Amino acid sequence: MSPEKPTILVTGGAGYIGSHAVLALLRSGYEVVILDNLVYGHRDLVETALKVELVVGDTSDRSLLDRLFQSREIAAVMHFSAYAYVGESVTDPAKYYRNNVLGTLTLLEAMLAASVNKFVFSSTCATYGVPEVIPIPEDHPQNPINPYGATKLMVERILSDFDAAYDFKSVIFRYFNAAGADPGGLLGEDHNPETHLIPLVLQTALGKRESISVFGTDYPTPDGTCIRDYIHVNDLADAHVLGLEYLLKGGDSGVFNLGNGNGFSVKEVIDTAKHVTGADIKVTECDRRPGDPPVLIGSSDKARKILGWQPQYSSLEEIISHAWQWHKQRHK
Ligand code: UDP
Repeated sequence: MSPEKPTILVTGGAGYIGSHAVLALLRSGYEVVILDNLVYGHRDLVETALKVELVVGDTSDRSLLDRLFQSREIAAVMHFSAYAYVGESVTDPAKYYRNNVLGTLTLLEAMLAASVNKFVFSSTCATYGVPEVIPIPEDHPQNPINPYGATKLMVERILSDFDAAYDFKSVIFRYFNAAGADPGGLLGEDHNPETHLIPLVLQTALGKRESISVFGTDYPTPDGTCIRDYIHVNDLADAHVLGLEYLLKGGDSGVFNLGNGNGFSVKEVIDTAKHVTGADIKVTECDRRPGDPPVLIGSSDKARKILGWQPQYSSLEEIISHAWQWHKQRHK
């Protein structure tokens, strides 16, 4: 551990994207403390794969945050902890505004009190709503169509106001579809309940589910199914380290899309998974899922240009292979 590498507080570091970001930070030589309430995060991932300090608690617990900042020299915060089920955000918006907005505001106020002013934030392409142009650039209008996206947009606004008022610097990442797993096999995606396409397809390949439902086959796309931009979780994680280093070097606040720039349809994902797993994955064609735009593809040129981000994994085959390796051992 080189002395010049500071300590980073990672909220939600026991979750899917957060745990991969912690691994990327450790590989770059940073000291990490995780704050996670373990509602959706996994203690075993922290203990077996990451082996860093885990503080179990909530971002809305101001006294816990104050103790955390007082007891350590924390140089910056990466904030992953949030509720992220779009459907649930529609049926129980209070839960989302309380956790994702109020919890984040409490964390930001604790940071101000501790004079920590560097923040890397997980936002989402869901803040754009239904895109007017593809690929979506960062200056695209933001009209989220569900409370989950609205909570993320509210935090983006808070961060912009904090910068103006308090010189508080943030890097905001708007993710497209995070997928895959660290090829080392120790980390991966494990949501309960699971709603995402790739893990559900792989659970079907493992025989844990009868069939995979395809939500809508009448979209205005070449094969009628929705197109999404799947980005390898390790590439997301690397971007976070670059975003952090940009801030630590005195960079100004910025907003960056993180996607592959390539779109794949639901049918293409299923076909690739059949090829990778060798399993005959049963498909059930269903109605559209409410709130799904037909095509979401991001332009990530800005992250490449300003942060020097170079995603390593552009093939869907590779992304699904890494996820498959993880799912086989996690669900055996
Ligand atoms: N999808 C599907 N069946 C499923 C889950 C998802 O057809 O069981 C579709 C969904 O409608 C969307 C795409 O797969 O078009 C990706 O969905 P996911 O929930 O993985 O991510 P999202 O794009 O909603 O963030």
